[in-house]
Amino acid sequence: MSSFAAPRKSLGQNFLQDPNIINRIVASLALSENDTVVEIGPGRGALTELIIPQAGQTHLIEFDRDLIEYWQNRADTADSLIVHGQDVLQFDMNEITQSSNRKIKVIGNLPYNISSPVLFHLMHYADQIDSQIVMLQKEVVERMASGPGSKQYGRLSVMLQQRYTIENLFKVPPTAFFPPPKVDSAIARLTPLTNVAHPVDSQLDFEKLVKQAFSMRRKTLRNTLKGLLSSVQIESLNIDPSARAETLSVENFSALTNLYTSNSAIA
Ligand code: SAM
Repeated sequence: MSSFAAPRKSLGQNFLQDPNIINRIVASLALSENDTVVEIGPGRGALTELIIPQAGQTHLIEFDRDLIEYWQNRADTADSLIVHGQDVLQFDMNEITQSSNRKIKVIGNLPYNISSPVLFHLMHYADQIDSQIVMLQKEVVERMASGPGSKQYGRLSVMLQQRYTIENLFKVPPTAFFPPPKVDSAIARLTPLTNVAHPVDSQLDFEKLVKQAFSMRRKTLRNTLKGLLSSVQIESLNIDPSARAETLSVENFSALTNLYTSNSAIA
């Protein structure tokens, strides 16, 4: 371990060092020898060293030059280990999923500065993913898992809950890391829904409408959705135009999106 360079702040390098927490995180993936696992940001291998012997195949996506070299050397002696030295946000997961005959499991103690973009990137591959275990800032996990009416409920909650079941598994204190981050962290499990309960006809319209609805939290839908849907159209779905976005369910957002999409097709 002493041969590693100092942790790089710019790459969000807070390495796990608490064996109990590390065990709990990997156990939540429920690995079997047939599984193909993708780890985002293996770092110095706190999670990786437990994953490799339990999984059928382990793919690592790492961006740090020195760490890529370290893992490539390791991969030279292990057929079941494959290293992708790339920015995860540019990485096409199809490279892995197309060669795997089962859905993949994804795990990552994610760099906090890119955690939401990583979650949105992974969403493109949700059909091919069995489950995702991710470490994030505790308040981000709370936002992801919260429901309508709560303060934390927002764009991230709606976008993710439309596609996944989200579980807030457990909290991880700063002392579990080296160096310790300034915030509490938490582990979340995201399981893609096999039957999406409230499908949308256009993912792009869904993103646009949800973003616009939450752009001014205190304003009513009548105001925030101006230009997309009129009050009459909102009411036609039995949704009150004077309600605020934070009170609407995922089902409501899907219905609003589908109405907007069908209207734009006519226009
Ligand atoms: N998994 C290790 C652990 O738990 O100790 C390291 C976690 S550390 C919080 C984040 C890891 O993600 C680092 O290894 C870092 O180099 C890597 N990383 C940062 N940005 C990345 C990116 N854009 N693509 C892939 N890996 C990245």
